Amino acid sequence: MPYSYDSENIFAKILRGDIPNATVLETEFTLAFKDITPKAPDHVLVIPKGAYVNYDDFCQNASDPEILDFMRACGQICKDLGVEEKGFRAITNAGEHGCQEVPHFHMHILAGKVMGPLLA
Ligand code: 5GP
Repeated sequence: MPYSYDSENIFAKILRGDIPNATVLETEFTLAFKDITPKAPDHVLVIPKGAYVNYDDFCQNASDPEILDFMRACGQICKDLGVEEKGFRAITNAGEHGCQEVPHFHMHILAGKVMGPLLA
């Protein structure tokens, strides 16, 4: 399935520096920042700097270094948050059925409370 990327989405604007963000980590290929409306005491959004619409687009079309950098960044954020022992939730929403709001691939990292069953 070909993906059409909307360069006016809010995360593209954040990447361009058009709107501010609370950055927690930046690497060569990845940016992570606090969610503007946190759903947990810690709520970080991790995004690739490349223009990928969703998880499937990222997995199919990103380079190995981009994917490795992204995964390592997620791990580093968990370490920096100090949540390895108590745990965390990492989720990505994709498309209409996933209720994805922003059409630039992102991983939510949620921590700092008991999240409850995912499918409750
Ligand atoms: P989705 O529903 O696409 O998986 O999640 C999008 C997330 O982006 C939501 O949790 C929402 O709070 C967050 N968000 C939307 N606009 C902004 C913004 O301008 N700045 C930041 N930091 N987060 C945003």
